[in-house]
Amino acid sequence: MPKKGSAMFNGERALERHAAIVTGASSGIGLAVAEALATAGAAVVVNYHSDREAADELVERIVAREGRAIAVQADVSDETGVVRLFDTAAEAFGRIDVLVSNSGVQKDAAVADMSLADWNTVIDINLTGQFLCAREAVRRFSTQPQEGRPARSAGTIIAMSSVHEVIPWAGHINYAAAKGGIRMLTRSLAQEVAADGIRVNAIAPGAIRTPINKDAWDSDAALENLLRLIPYGRIGEPEDVARAAVWLASDQADYITGTTLFVDGGMSLYPEFRDNG
Ligand code: NAD
Repeated sequence: MPKKGSAMFNGERALERHAAIVTGASSGIGLAVAEALATAGAAVVVNYHSDREAADELVERIVAREGRAIAVQADVSDETGVVRLFDTAAEAFGRIDVLVSNSGVQKDAAVADMSLADWNTVIDINLTGQFLCAREAVRRFSTQPQEGRPARSAGTIIAMSSVHEVIPWAGHINYAAAKGGIRMLTRSLAQEVAADGIRVNAIAPGAIRTPINKDAWDSDAALENLLRLIPYGRIGEPEDVARAAVWLASDQADYITGTTLFVDGGMSLYPEFRDNG
C-alpha cells in the first residue's frame, strides 16, 4: 500500500504553478477541463469564441475558490487571433505550460449535400485550429525561460480528438476527416518536438453529454440507441474527460507522448462484435 503523502496520483494540486490555455472552454468538455485544471492548481486561460457570459462565469467561479483564471476571446481558426490569445496568456501568467486544444464543431450532411463551406468550416476549426494553436504553443514552450518551470517537460499539448479519429462516421465526413487528421498531427508533432522536451498527446472522447451531441442523448429513445454503442453502459460526462486531461497534463504522465488516450467507455472496441462475429 502506498503510504499517505506518497506520489500516488489523485489530481489534487498536480498542476501547481502551471499556466494553461483551454480553447473552447465556455461550454461542455472544455469548460470541465478548464475547471479541473484550475482545481489542480493551474492558472487557466478560458478561451471562448462567442459566449462571453459563460466564460466570465467560469472565471468568477475559479477565482472565488482562490484559483487564477482569465477569459480571452479568440477564433482558433484565425492566425492573428491565436497569436493574440497566447500573447494575452503570457502577459497574464508569465508563461504557458499546458495547451488543451479543445474547440470543435460539427456541420453534418450526407456527402452529396455537404457544401464546401461546411466542409471548410469544420476543417478550419477542428484541424487548422489545432495546427495554429499547437504551433504557437511550441514556439512559446521553446523560447520561454526553462529556469523555474513547474514541470519536467518544457510544455505539454493535449488535442481534443474523438473516437472518430479511428471510427468511420457516415454523414460526418468533414468531422471524421478532421479528427483523423488530428491523430497524425499529434503523432508527427510529438515525434518532431520530443527532443525539445515537449509532450504532445490527444484525448479521444466517446459520447459525452454536451451541447455538441444533444440530439444523441436528450430523449429516452436516442439515449437507448446510443447506449448500444457503449459497452460500459453509460454516457460519458465532461468530468470523465477532464480528469484524464489533468493526469495527461501532469508530470504523472511525463513519459507519455504521441499517443491518444481513449475516454469512451469502450465505444472504440467494436461493440457490435460482442455477440455477432
Ligand atoms: P461544445 O459544443 O460544448 O464545445 C465546443 C466548443 O468549441 C464551444 O465552446 C465552442 O464555442 C468552441 N468553438 C467553436 N468554434 C470555435 C472557434 N472558431 N474558436 C474557438 N472556439 C470555438 O461541445 P463539446 O462536446 O464540449 O466539444 C469539445 C470538443 O470535444 C470538440 O473538439 C469535440 O469534437 C470533441 N468531442 C466531443 C464529444 C462529445 O461526445 N461531446 C466526443 C468526441 C469529441
